[in-house]
Amino acid sequence: SPQVGEMVGSYVPLVNLQHQYLITDNHPDIAALKKELPVTRDSIAASYIRQEGNGFLIGPYETRGSKPWALEGVDWSFDRELFEGDLERLMPYLERCMEIVPLFKEVGISSVINGLITHTPDDNLLVGPAKGLRNFWNLCGASIGIAQGGIGKYLAQWMVYGQTELNMASLDSRRFDLWADKKYCITRAIESYERMYAMAVPNENRPHGRPIRVSALHTVLAQKGAIHVVNTGFEKPA
Ligand SMILES: Cc1cc2nc3c(=O)[nH]c(=O)nc-3n(C[C@H](O)[C@H](O)[C@H](O)COP(=O)(O)OP(=O)(O)OC[C@H]3O[C@@H](n4cnc5c(N)ncnc54)[C@H](O)[C@@H]3O)c2cc1C
Repeated sequence: SPQVGEMVGSYVPLVNLQHQYLITDNHPDIAALKKELPVTRDSIAASYIRQEGNGFLIGPYETRGSKPWALEGVDWSFDRELFEGDLERLMPYLERCMEIVPLFKEVGISSVINGLITHTPDDNLLVGPAKGLRNFWNLCGASIGIAQGGIGKYLAQWMVYGQTELNMASLDSRRFDLWADKKYCITRAIESYERMYAMAVPNENRPHGRPIRVSALHTVLAQKGAIHVVNTGFEKPA
């Protein structure tokens, strides 16, 4: 998307990171179950665990050492390809999964899927009209693919009627501009990947990539002990 945007002078702030999940062999105890296991997420394993066939599907979001990809641009011949599995990187998280799901120790791994997930600096999608262009629309940066269908409905309303029945401000791609430079996008993408399953607290202001947009009073206020919160990159006193 950033390269397509570039063709028309539009800045699309997103970064890809590798994400892996693995599928295990079947286990007779799971085959004997009368109902499907629930999908679980564990903050310490930073993983989702669910039943796949009569085995497991496990996807860790590594809390360190995550891998951004193609920071200089994606080769035009690349089309949703997969990479070699890299289990080494996942081991600390898989070990924790074995603690909480002991049956996982008893099955082999049948496949590892390693693909790309796109991330924006605040991990919300980029949706709506591109800044400064007429009739050029974004719908990209979806880290959670399952959200795509619903968002498509509101983008269609936006395109046809010029407005939507829901407030789209938090997804509007115009919330970012050149201030969200490459270094900021990479830093924030890594942060959002590595904190995917961290316990969130209300009004949390994650620290990475800050400060990037400040008022002339920022330093004076900070020296006097002001606590700043952030809104679209702007530091403002809480
Ligand atoms: C390993 C892995 C596990 C995942 N697990 C989940 C999950 O459990 N739940 C979930 O909700 N999401 C999951 N996701 C994320 C989900 O796959 C993505 O969020 C979703 O696919 C993003 O959709 P998209 O339409 O924005 O991009 P894509 O699905 O990548 O679609 C982009 C499309 O654009 C096409 N294209 C590219 N360049 C051009 C061009 N120049 N001209 C025309 N067409 C072009 C591509 O061929 C492709 O069809 C996972 C991703 C990975 C890698």
